[in-house]
Amino acid sequence: MDFDKTLQELPAYLREFFGKGTVASYIPALARVPAQKFGMALCRVAGPCHRVGDSEERFSIQSISKLFTLSLAMGRCGEELWRRVGREPSGNRFNSLVQLEYERGIPRNPFINAGAIVICDILLDHLPNPKETLRDYLRLLSGSFDIDFDQEVARSEAETGFINYALANFLKGNGNLHNAVEAVLDLYFHQCSLALSCSELARATVHLANAGVSPLLGEALLTGPQVKRLNSLMLTSGTYDAVGEFAYRVGLPAKSGVGGGIAAVLPGDYSVVVWSPELDPSGNSLAGGAALEYLTTVTGKSIF
Ligand code: GLU
Repeated sequence: MDFDKTLQELPAYLREFFGKGTVASYIPALARVPAQKFGMALCRVAGPCHRVGDSEERFSIQSISKLFTLSLAMGRCGEELWRRVGREPSGNRFNSLVQLEYERGIPRNPFINAGAIVICDILLDHLPNPKETLRDYLRLLSGSFDIDFDQEVARSEAETGFINYALANFLKGNGNLHNAVEAVLDLYFHQCSLALSCSELARATVHLANAGVSPLLGEALLTGPQVKRLNSLMLTSGTYDAVGEFAYRVGLPAKSGVGGGIAAVLPGDYSVVVWSPELDPSGNSLAGGAALEYLTTVTGKSIF
């Protein structure tokens, strides 16, 4: 399989997709990212990593961080987690208040904002320093020990995060947050601010393509059943309110973020991360989705 050749074809193929989406603009640090950036990194479970474009430039991983907070919570909380968060696609906006009210403070899944906020609460219950644990987990997984929070992004998230405050207060009012709203959201806003490159994120997710064992560390980070669940949740809930369309076009479990990143895995074969800041109306990277569709179609390698 010539992944290098396919990746090198992408910049020309993607030209027609640029200029058709919108860069997230709710905070200045995201609004000023050049719209035409594009990078991809693909790490084989047994083999090298392939790269193209701006694959080494760090970007705001935003909701892709929900993968890592959920991984940490799964290892610590067990079945109790699933009494507080569901595992169905939401079919609604990622920050919907209406749905949370209908469903009495139990978020549909851990990848919508309300679900991720409950996961932060669980981490605060189980870890003395969850921010540091999360950052160090990503450093270990990626092998890049200078990965960090972007404090400007974290501050802006807090200054503009009125809907997240509403969600957290509603969760608290329904008894589904144990810790103070401010403390839970401080962790949530920091996780959104983590900055990694495509290469770093591809290394940090390759264990999800390898039954939980990092080929880089030679160590099990999650169990096989935990990875099966995480990947299933990505497939059913990882790409906002467009999961059906995304699965139809790409055929891989994936998690996206409003910074324009998408992390996807083909179990047994590879992890792949793409970054391009212009988003489609559902909040997924427009060129990123097109690039993944091209990759799985041309190589014939998807979970289906
Ligand atoms: N940080 C933003 C929020 O919490 C967006 C997260 C995302 O979906 O990437 O609303």
